[in-house]
Amino acid sequence: MSRKPIVAVVGRPNVGKSTIFNMMAGEKIAIVQNTPGVTRDRIYADVDWLNHNFTIIDTGGIEPDSKDIILSQMRYQAETAIETADVIMFVVDVLTGLTDTDYKVADILRKSKKPIVLCVNKVDNFDKLQYDVLEFYNLGLGEPMPLSAVNKIGMGDLLDEIVKHFYERVEADEEEEITKIAIIGKPNVGKSSLINKILGEERHIVSELAGTTRDAIDSRVVFGDKEYIFIDTAGLRRKNKIKEEIEKYSIIRAVAAIEKADIVVLMIDAVEGITEQDAKIAGIAHDRGKGAIIAVNKWDAIEKNDKTMYRFLDTIQVTLAYMTYAPIVFISAQTGLRINKLFETIEMVVQNQTLRIQTGVINDVLYDAMAMNQPPSDKGKRLKIYYMTQVAIKPPTFVLFVNDKELAHFSYIRYIENKLRDAFGFKGTPLKMLIRERK
Ligand code: GDP
Ligand code: GDP
Repeated sequence: MSRKPIVAVVGRPNVGKSTIFNMMAGEKIAIVQNTPGVTRDRIYADVDWLNHNFTIIDTGGIEPDSKDIILSQMRYQAETAIETADVIMFVVDVLTGLTDTDYKVADILRKSKKPIVLCVNKVDNFDKLQYDVLEFYNLGLGEPMPLSAVNKIGMGDLLDEIVKHFYERVEADEEEEITKIAIIGKPNVGKSSLINKILGEERHIVSELAGTTRDAIDSRVVFGDKEYIFIDTAGLRRKNKIKEEIEKYSIIRAVAAIEKADIVVLMIDAVEGITEQDAKIAGIAHDRGKGAIIAVNKWDAIEKNDKTMYRFLDTIQVTLAYMTYAPIVFISAQTGLRINKLFETIEMVVQNQTLRIQTGVINDVLYDAMAMNQPPSDKGKRLKIYYMTQVAIKPPTFVLFVNDKELAHFSYIRYIENKLRDAFGFKGTPLKMLIRERK
């Protein structure tokens, strides 16, 4: 699997999910600090374990107060995890022992085809508690992995067990070449309408049975001579969509869908205009380096004159100032207006996010930029950028070799980035600029 795997953490309140999350994520938890508008909730983080990178998502964190609510929240957590994750880590508590809720959650998880790692936390004293751990075999989820999150005992074995499952999904590799698209946006913006319009008919709607598993179903679409996969975001085609969805869960789903996607189509409701929640979601796509297109939907439903489009363009550019690279398309999922244009734009973004520029050409741009606007200096020492090279695509990633990292101020790096955009376009994709010191 070349995409980063997603691991979702599920478990009752107080079993230690946050403690485990923080320990696995370490310092990398501050993932959204540079992106304005993004939620500060700790929802996802990057984990590096030996040579493995994965994204961990915490589905917990909403504090329920009564027993009934705990169970329904747990069900929701489990279903969110099944929909979004490649591996599910189910955390239980050795000190409380097996609970009724644990059994019910295990039932839901077992019915999914997702690999599950059963983590028995708070095993601070293994000699004393090892027999209590065995009780959790009763959940029918395989071997319980003992852990003491506070003492960091058992973490290595647990992580080994998690990453073992990443290799089970080799069949997914054949899909690597196909562009994956996530349609993201607030409830009622028109995501299902768009996917249905694209699919051409309603018969793709999958029925949902209460209590059954909810593995996401992605849609393959052929447009022109190209194939695309539309990722099932938030059960796009689920009939009985849960209204008033708790915002945290819709963001978790959005995060997972974005993670799996090459390109994110952020849908904005033309009738409502762009909102805070739109900015949050856009920020996540930006943060994760994904291609981005903004689709203003319901264009059929508003009164327009010759200035309306420009007004929208202005407002969006201001609200999503860090994302001016994203092309904006005005569509109607209902009438089909400019859906062709949307696909053309997707294809353009695919080209741009996989563009590779030769080092010689990049450095011509770099030297011209430095000649036009000298690098900054501090306390008599001037920044030197020796050269620059592209090291990755999706997103295009550049390494700048400099004399002193401290001197490489954000604003100057942004200036170089803009010069790269002037020269090569890169419409629709963020760029990543890495700074390395070379003595
Ligand atoms: P969450 O509600 O599942 O996110 O649980 P938290 O991570 O907030 O932990 C709940 C409580 O359990 C806190 O007081 C933690 O300090 C404690 N806790 C977490 N891990 C361990 C552990 O390994 N051993 C013990 N004894 N306590 C733990
Ligand atoms: P979702 O929650 O984002 O999947 O949104 P839906 O696709 O369920 O659409 C929500 C409502 O907006 C439905 O009543 C749709 O008929 C309506 N809708 C969706 N797209 C359009 C559009 O392009 N124009 C108009 N006028 N209404 C739309």
